[in-house]
Amino acid sequence: MKAGAGVRLVISFLVFACPQCKHFTNAPAGQRHRRCSYCGKIIDITKAVCAVFDTPDAAAAAVREFNARGDNEFQAAVERSRDRVRALMPSTVLGVEHISSKGEAPMHVGKRKMLMEMLEKEARDKPCSLDRISELCREYRLEWFWVEDELAKLADSGLLVFPRPWTVQLVQSSEKKTEEAPKKTDVSHEILAVIREAGGTSSVKEILSHFGAKGVNQTSIEDSLDKLMQSGAIFEPRPGVVSIV
Ligand SMILES: [Zn+2]
Repeated sequence: MKAGAGVRLVISFLVFACPQCKHFTNAPAGQRHRRCSYCGKIIDITKAVCAVFDTPDAAAAAVREFNARGDNEFQAAVERSRDRVRALMPSTVLGVEHISSKGEAPMHVGKRKMLMEMLEKEARDKPCSLDRISELCREYRLEWFWVEDELAKLADSGLLVFPRPWTVQLVQSSEKKTEEAPKKTDVSHEILAVIREAGGTSSVKEILSHFGAKGVNQTSIEDSLDKLMQSGAIFEPRPGVVSIV
């Protein structure tokens, strides 16, 4: 016997059928979820009948064969690998439906907000495995079957992609970028007009509230005031008050 023979570095692959479209597909052993390449359904591998293969190539070949020749070949492979599958399958993680106490109303409000929060944190800049998402469901008090549907909807609307069949990643939206960097507006001309209308002198506080009410952000107003000050168009006769030169 070779040294280290007990350590298996080769990952076994499971072959199973999609419960929705019945196409056969595969995933590395240990993975609990994958997206069906045919219909988009997220398959719970722990609930699927599986046959086990020693290499990804063997699993892929079996998938092709089962899809071409139907159930009988698959059932034979399932019989051959029954015990090994049981040993390979990770123990199931409790979902929120198992732990929520009786009488406690399920939280419907803000579910989508919680999901987006989770995805922003876990799957914004890097792919996150479906298994991790399903584990986090408990922490975020979300039901996995609901999350499954939402992930499919997000993928349909282009907000989310499946980089691998068992991972998800949020797609950077253009709106998000504009939110992060608020646009600066130069309102120096308008500030001069306001001061002129006030008789040539105005308090900075008034200017801030005047433009703030119009939706101009404070940084824009302050920058514009600085610009006018530096160009010598206005001066500060006393703190907090500006006058036209
Ligand atoms: Zn399918």
